[in-house]
Amino acid sequence: MTNEQTKQNLFTVAQAQIDSACELLGLPASIRSILREPMREMLVSLPVKMDSGEVKVFKGFRVQYNDARGPTKGGIRFHPAEDINMVRALAAWMTWKCAVVDLPYGGAKGGVICNTKEMSKRELEALSRKYINGVGRILGPERDIPAPDVYTTPEIMGWMMDEYSKLSGYNVPGMITGKPLCIGGSQGRGDATARGGMFTLEAACKHIGLEFCKARVAIQGYGNAGSLAAELLHSVHSAKIVAVSDSRGGIYNPNGLDPAKVLEHKRKTGSVVGFPGTIPISNEDVLLADVDILVPAALESVITSANAEKVKAKIVAELANGPTTPDADKILYKEGTFLIPDILCNAGGVTVSYFEWIQGVTGDRWSEEQVHERLRTKMSKAFADVLEISQEKKVDMRTAAYLLALQRVTDAMQARGWV
Ligand code: NAD
Repeated sequence: MTNEQTKQNLFTVAQAQIDSACELLGLPASIRSILREPMREMLVSLPVKMDSGEVKVFKGFRVQYNDARGPTKGGIRFHPAEDINMVRALAAWMTWKCAVVDLPYGGAKGGVICNTKEMSKRELEALSRKYINGVGRILGPERDIPAPDVYTTPEIMGWMMDEYSKLSGYNVPGMITGKPLCIGGSQGRGDATARGGMFTLEAACKHIGLEFCKARVAIQGYGNAGSLAAELLHSVHSAKIVAVSDSRGGIYNPNGLDPAKVLEHKRKTGSVVGFPGTIPISNEDVLLADVDILVPAALESVITSANAEKVKAKIVAELANGPTTPDADKILYKEGTFLIPDILCNAGGVTVSYFEWIQGVTGDRWSEEQVHERLRTKMSKAFADVLEISQEKKVDMRTAAYLLALQRVTDAMQARGWV
């Protein structure tokens, strides 16, 4: 399968992962057939009056995958290449992710096909409000709680919460997470994904006997997840970040980069490329760099059967969703690479979203220290649970995470009398 085909068939990949976990758990066909399909999908047409006066109709989706463990939860993506199969796959992964970290949620995902880079702020606000008008009837703090994702921001979450509150006739901060702090956002949400990933990396380093402070790190992607991971690993653990990249290419310095200065350079120039004192390298070179820890934090399906054998890192920490193809998984496992799977590694974001939801529905406010401590507890427990299954059943960490998640969702479906 080529990279492009793998992307197009992301939901097929998600279903194959479900199939193999069901097989290992010995789950009957009745349970498997529920787990393989989204529970509800909504497709909406969103007419928006553009600044030119023309009316443009955008397509939007919301996929609610499985709500056996609680209301569904998942981000909203605004992307020109948004695609229902990708949204289905991401909704399935949210279901397993919430179950792995033991949040009382099911999984969902949403998206609108649009190019935010070509839209004015007014057009973006109009589209965001239209989206809530379109799918709002299946959302709510006890039904389905969205969050920011690719090209959606806290500002957009604020508009969406406002629109939903107007439709409801009262203030509903618990209907969405990732909001600005002044309207019910949580402390610690900004770097939650990166920090959660760091907590799993601490446990992984301990497990394989790698000294974090001596680790050399490569990071693909220098956006929210990647750049904050670089800063945290550098500042908290003194890890040496030797290679990073973004969509325009990569940079390498064997003596280590200053992540904050690289981010400053990216802000000024639009890319990490050209950062003084570095050697330009390709995105592929970043994945294959001679490092201890590799953090894919950009796109899906970048570690494939074509390059997995050449990955030198001892630990691959998947901050991105779906960066490793199933074929590549097998190769990494055979080569002895310790992989922290996406549904565990990047679950810090949804965990702090859960904290924001609790604060929203109870009217409570937590300090940043409280959020960090509770996040550490959740992530460390989830890592230990997955590792235990991996060792007990002699399977790789991704399979172990799936076994844990699918068993938890199955237990909930059985307890409700669905099967
Ligand atoms: P982002 O848009 O902030 O950053 C993405 C980065 O990837 C950018 O630096 C971009 O330049 C880079 N990129 C794009 N194409 C690339 C390419 N071909 N090669 C290398 N880099 C490329 O997005 P983000 O929020 O950091 O998310 C990144 C990944 O992490 C996604 O898979 C996302 O689903 C996942 N994730 C993010 C969060 C979160 O809270 N931000 C939570 C869970 C999972």
